[in-house]
Amino acid sequence: MIDAQQIKNLGQEFGIDTIRIAKAQPLLDAAARIKQQRNAGLYLPNEDWHRRNIDEFCDVRSVLPGAKSIIAACQCYLTDERIHNGASGNPYGLIARYTWRNHYSDLRKRLRKIALVLEKRHGAECMVYSNSGIAEKPIAQQCGIGYYGKHSIIINPTFGSWIVLGEIVNTLEIEPDAPVDAGCRDCTICIEACPTNAIIKPYVIDRRLCIQALTNWYGVLPHEIASVWGNRLYGCTICQDICPANRNVAAVRPRTDIGYVGPSISLLEILQIDEAQYRGKYANNQITANWINFKALQRNAIIALGNIRDPKTLPLLEKLTKYHDPVIAQSAGWAVDNF
Ligand code: SF4
Ligand code: SF4
Repeated sequence: MIDAQQIKNLGQEFGIDTIRIAKAQPLLDAAARIKQQRNAGLYLPNEDWHRRNIDEFCDVRSVLPGAKSIIAACQCYLTDERIHNGASGNPYGLIARYTWRNHYSDLRKRLRKIALVLEKRHGAECMVYSNSGIAEKPIAQQCGIGYYGKHSIIINPTFGSWIVLGEIVNTLEIEPDAPVDAGCRDCTICIEACPTNAIIKPYVIDRRLCIQALTNWYGVLPHEIASVWGNRLYGCTICQDICPANRNVAAVRPRTDIGYVGPSISLLEILQIDEAQYRGKYANNQITANWINFKALQRNAIIALGNIRDPKTLPLLEKLTKYHDPVIAQSAGWAVDNF
């Protein structure tokens, strides 16, 4: 049995905010919950739950057959940078805070340093993850990185929900940590604040209504969603912005500049560059990951312009109502009507 404190010390040495240990075991409750939500049709058609083997997703032994434990980590990304809304004639669209930089890539690099030590020192086999492949949130809940908020996001007692998660699945026996004894209790603020009523009950999101999920789904948005979309270009954090558990979290210095995008991007730029230029300019950030639909971002830019109602952008929107792609044309039609 490896001393967990040794690993936590390594985490500190490599600049990781929190490390806790989970046992490598099937997460049966999580698998049942995901299946139930999939069967209830709560996911969008572009999401891969429809194809994925959920039992394998919820059991890290499917990626590393001899896995004994998971070193789970979180890194806070809350900074005090100001959001730039652009200027008259050049309004900007919001980027969700978690993707102002590529914290996943940064955390993976730090975790790889720990993995290297464990491989060399203890002959461990290790696989490093962040934001892909394994059931991160249930693992984080199981070992006390945090607890589930009613918005279905993990909340850490120190850093709130302003965290990215990462893991080292490995073959070492390490003493596991317990879940944290905390929760939302009788708070329902996020459920009431969600502009599309996507939190259909505590801990359950209807992703067909969730702006965060819809920003990467390509199609015509229903008017009632478009009208509360605001100036979002990618993602939505309203349910986190208003959460009392996030109220007193101290801002940190940016931990990385990998894939820096910042809090907002010019909406006109998104409509005027092509996909190759976009992917080149914002490379190394998740907003250019291969599963990101560039056309959905252009649709988002149009909806945001329709909500901002800057008269200088009207001629472009009017032109786009005649665009050959019906999603773009109809979205521009909605935007023009909303002026
Ligand atoms: S991300 Fe936005 S749309 Fe989705 S549940 Fe939270 S507040 Fe609602
Ligand atoms: S707003 Fe309230 S209910 Fe929602 S996650 Fe935060 S504490 Fe929980």
